[in-house]
Amino acid sequence: MTRLYDDPARFAEDMVRGFAEANAKYVRQVPGGVVRAQPGADGKVAVITGGGSGHYPAFCGVVGPGFADGSVIGNIFTSPSAEQAYSVALEAECGGGVLFAFGNYAGDNMNFGLAVQRLQAEGIPAANIVITDDIASAPAAEQEKRRGIAGGFTVFKLASGAAEAGYSFDEVRRVAETTNARTRSLGVAFDGCTMPGQQEPLFTVPDGKMGVGLGIHGEPGISETELPSASELAERLVEGVLAEAPQGAGNRIAVLLNGLGRTKYEELFVLWSRMTPLFAEAGLELVEPEVGELVTSLDMAGCSLTVTWLDEELERFWSTGVDTPAYRKGVAVAASSGTHTHRHAAARKTELAVAPEAGQRCAGTVSAALGALSAAIVQASEELGRLDAIAGDGDHGRGMSKGATAADQAARRTAQAQAGPADVLAAAGDAWAADAGGTSGVLWGAALRAFGTALPADRAASTADVAAGAEKALETLVSLGKAELGDKTMLDAVDPFVTALREASGDDLATAWRKAAQAATEAGTATASLSPKVGRARPLAERSVGTPDPGAVSFAIAVTAIAEVLEENA
Ligand code: ADP
Ligand code: MG
Repeated sequence: MTRLYDDPARFAEDMVRGFAEANAKYVRQVPGGVVRAQPGADGKVAVITGGGSGHYPAFCGVVGPGFADGSVIGNIFTSPSAEQAYSVALEAECGGGVLFAFGNYAGDNMNFGLAVQRLQAEGIPAANIVITDDIASAPAAEQEKRRGIAGGFTVFKLASGAAEAGYSFDEVRRVAETTNARTRSLGVAFDGCTMPGQQEPLFTVPDGKMGVGLGIHGEPGISETELPSASELAERLVEGVLAEAPQGAGNRIAVLLNGLGRTKYEELFVLWSRMTPLFAEAGLELVEPEVGELVTSLDMAGCSLTVTWLDEELERFWSTGVDTPAYRKGVAVAASSGTHTHRHAAARKTELAVAPEAGQRCAGTVSAALGALSAAIVQASEELGRLDAIAGDGDHGRGMSKGATAADQAARRTAQAQAGPADVLAAAGDAWAADAGGTSGVLWGAALRAFGTALPADRAASTADVAAGAEKALETLVSLGKAELGDKTMLDAVDPFVTALREASGDDLATAWRKAAQAATEAGTATASLSPKVGRARPLAERSVGTPDPGAVSFAIAVTAIAEVLEENA
């Protein structure tokens, strides 16, 4: 249960504020997250952790000398936006380039990927390190599909150690990638966690049972078994992880026995006492193991075991001293006082052009449409969260509500400034992506922006113009999300919507849009029979069969709400 908050929708923002105030010696709050209070040495590679929040001490708790240079902090279990990642990077970089390290989730991949492109375009070396340690989430042959869980901690630690030692951008990247390739985790869950403001946990585990193969975003385990004794669990986790030893692995290992938030340290120590003989039997030597809470999942009950097979170089960086809010080890290098001038991501104000009368009217309709869309999404928020909790992480309603509300407000502001429809949709899209985070947030944000590019500023938009806009939005969705039809994503509702709109381009706009919205609603419902191929729901694909895709359902709700606005206008 998460009990303490004023407004559940602002939980992450309030948490970051308190965290930064309590740790002012270590961190400075910046738009999008936190950076070290004292910057690293000039020319140092900046290692930036990130992802959704709810995992403390990951990811912001390890910002400080010897460890990360900054952390991008999203909403609970929700990817931060590209804007946040870019902003933190500009504040954290010391002249040696930027490496973002985060778990392998679609939303994070897209948002950090966009931030990397933007940094590179400005001449700052930047790359992503995508963590894929969870052996339960995909078979070994498909390592690139595996989720990132507690193994992120070792990857952050070793990459940060290399960066602190003055390694070049390419060398730090190599250390991070080698670490990820040599890191394996397996977790179990005894009970689910509860999002702020919710009464029910994201999942439950029946009494006397245990979920095997947990996710760290409240995704339930992949299979269920009888609750074992400590010795039996020790055996199961150690055997499971060691069975996946990477090729050429040595016998010195860094190990994390990680609590997920509601498993007592005392229980972890009991379990650990049963694990150490098993490692010894396997001929493995433990190097500075960690037993405790390193990567949590709110108040989930459960634990995970992570093993990283070390070589001489990795072992050196595992042992480097660090001094951070949540994790201290040995003697950290003195906080160096770099003099590199940071390029603050100050809001760049761009002047909006005043559109001709017809364009302003069209912008007014766009703004009204977004108002109706946002009201409908907010109303459906709880149901969307419930759909997403079945095989995903339960944040779809909250993310969509935040995004749609921000888009509505931005659209209104921009339309009042007498802008045309393209500017209104660009502002709305950017606000959506910035506030919603998550996979759906970045996709909706980019799609709205793209939609606007097809709308004229000097005459009323025809049905063909609107169909062209929908076409552009679809192209963006596909190029960014890389999903295919039938993968069980929002694309399965968007594509039929666009086809129906194109086929009806001889009709007046309200009629054509209504037909397309009906096609989207039918297609959204029909996704129930599909099994997810991408996104957070993929590892639990079977569970999702019988329930429609949350993103497809929310899309249908959104376009249906807009149909009403267009009919009133007609
Ligand atoms: P997250 O998955 O980051 O928690 P949300 O819960 O807000 O984000 O959104 C989940 C929805 O995003 C899914 O139901 C699906 O419709 C959509 N989605 C996920 N991955 C993709 C993708 N690669 N392309 C298109 N849509 C996607
Ligand atoms: Mg989700």
